[in-house]
Amino acid sequence: MLIRPVKPWEKCTMTAASPAVPAVLQALGKSFHPNCFRCVICNETLEGQQFSVDTQNKIYCVKDYHRFLAQTCAICEQLILPNKGSNEIVRVMSMGKSYHMACYEGKSNI
Ligand SMILES: [Zn+2]
Ligand SMILES: [Zn+2]
Repeated sequence: MLIRPVKPWEKCTMTAASPAVPAVLQALGKSFHPNCFRCVICNETLEGQQFSVDTQNKIYCVKDYHRFLAQTCAICEQLILPNKGSNEIVRVMSMGKSYHMACYEGKSNI
């Protein structure tokens, strides 16, 4: 994500209006008003924040992304969240279900 001075022909992806602000934010290869770049769930502005996008290019804060889109492990029934200090979710997909790596490996030893 990058914030830089706006060019006159650029339009905000959210409002389709020409930016009235002196800077646009660039993310996902698109331009946004910094004010329009918000989480679709909690409506927090994500300027300068970490964010995630789903397959429909909806924008989420990291917290809501994990809350709404995280898969539940089919063994321990806990959400599968990224390891501490990482944004990458490690999970095993098998037969249409998701598992924690550790749970899955435990199961495969039975
Ligand atoms: Zn949010
Ligand atoms: Zn698990």
